[in-house]
Amino acid sequence: MSQLATLSAAALDAALATAPDLTARIRLIRAAIPGRIAFSTSLGLEDQAVLHAIAEASADIDIFTLDTGRHFPETLDTIAASQDRYPLAIRLVAPEADDVETLTSRDGVLGFRNSIEARKACCDVRKVRPLMKALKGATGWITGLRREQAASRKAVPFAEFDPMQGLVKLNPIADWTLTQLETFIATHDIPVNALHARGFPSIGCAPCTRAIRPGEDSRAGRWWWEAENAAFAALGDQKECGLHNRPKLKQANSQVARS
Ligand code: SF4
Repeated sequence: MSQLATLSAAALDAALATAPDLTARIRLIRAAIPGRIAFSTSLGLEDQAVLHAIAEASADIDIFTLDTGRHFPETLDTIAASQDRYPLAIRLVAPEADDVETLTSRDGVLGFRNSIEARKACCDVRKVRPLMKALKGATGWITGLRREQAASRKAVPFAEFDPMQGLVKLNPIADWTLTQLETFIATHDIPVNALHARGFPSIGCAPCTRAIRPGEDSRAGRWWWEAENAAFAALGDQKECGLHNRPKLKQANSQVARS
């Protein structure tokens, strides 16, 4: 790990905490980190807010989304609406065709429902490997993570050095509440996925996301069958796909051979 990079990330973390607004945070990030800064967007509310701020700041940021091949049509509509609204390019990063073919040949087209390992293997092929490819050579990585989203995210900093990627991971809305986020979206009339209004607070791939019921956790609709299966549930909360907790993926990674 680079000690200098760690110290710089700590200084940036402190500076971001006192920046007056999100646009100022994006400008601060762009000014502090030389080289290519990537923003990986899943088109959720958080990422749409960050996208808006990047446009407001006219910041030179490489924006991409992971085209898993399993998106809802409404998610594709959100990409198109965002490209219409903002003068920004949103790159679609696809998985390797050979990896997908190997995976579906082995597990079947809905094999991710058979076990947590199979689901993580699918996320690995369709999300994690493409993410790693898209981040290669980047010096910074902006996300829309918020501390309030999940127990596993409650200590998310504004900036930290990621030794696995050799870059600074940046979470400019880490401290935002859901109310703050929704107010920001409404105030700026930011385009959002139509599914949010139909009970989908968290939206992933279509076969792996359902609307939540009243009183359910905001991520209850993600890979919902796992919580309803006693054998899966006994393994504890696994509601991450590996984009932000890669060390947990080692076992699944080893199971789908790279072609
Ligand atoms: S969310 Fe579902 S379909 Fe999408 S990559 Fe993960 S397991 Fe595969």
